[in-house]
Amino acid sequence: MPKNGYTDIIKNILNVKGIDVRLGCSFEDLKENFQHIFYTGPIDRYFEFRLGRLGYRTLDFERFVDDGDHQGTAVINYCDEEVPYTRISEHKHFAPWEQENFSKTVCFREYSRLAGENDIPYYPIRLVNEKKMLEDYITLARTKKNISFMGRLGTYRYLDMDVTIKEALEACDVIDKALQEDNFTLPAFFVDPE
Ligand SMILES: Cc1cc2nc3c(=O)[nH]c(=O)nc-3n(C[C@H](O)[C@H](O)[C@H](O)COP(=O)(O)OP(=O)(O)OC[C@H]3O[C@@H](n4cnc5c(N)ncnc54)[C@H](O)[C@@H]3O)c2cc1C
Repeated sequence: MPKNGYTDIIKNILNVKGIDVRLGCSFEDLKENFQHIFYTGPIDRYFEFRLGRLGYRTLDFERFVDDGDHQGTAVINYCDEEVPYTRISEHKHFAPWEQENFSKTVCFREYSRLAGENDIPYYPIRLVNEKKMLEDYITLARTKKNISFMGRLGTYRYLDMDVTIKEALEACDVIDKALQEDNFTLPAFFVDPE
């Protein structure tokens, strides 16, 4: 976890001049011409699935409330095949500095399954046939001029937060340097997505 939590990071990002947040709209709804796009959506979606759909797993969350303390910690993973959920998160343990003596506790069970077309794509699967399709999407992406594909969905890799943040900071260094040139160009990928 970041030293001061994610809220501080997001607050500081939003305080940067020139940042405009639009909620409840899709990238596809935007009609403006941008000088450069940093795209963090699914790479196959950007190309309207023209080479096929990459595979993802999604999750169904089941909320439940218990008395007192349910499991004594923020997250417990369940790896046994006979247990239908993969983990239980108990949210009050993510904020141990909150000293209130809550009488109730809110938890979520996570059930993992293959993502359908209308599900949120959480985890890139990367089976052999997906790797070939991914290579073709990467080749296509490299033909584009003013867009960089980033993050978990843009590069179709499972990333933890520490890696995501590290890669974003490294990309910022490249962008900073490029912006010092008059006619800057930025790569389609800041990392090797293969
Ligand atoms: C269920 C789950 C649990 C996780 N648990 C952990 C954990 O415990 N520890 C850890 O380190 N990491 C965890 N991760 C991983 C972590 O969440 C990711 O690494 C991180 O969020 C990736 O950041 P990102 O910016 O690449 O992508 P995201 O956080 O997915 O951001 C992409 C954004 O783009 C938006 N977007 C996508 N398509 C469009 C579109 N067409 N138009 C507009 N907006 C769009 C999405 O809504 C989203 O807000 C977990 C991930 C999942 C899915």
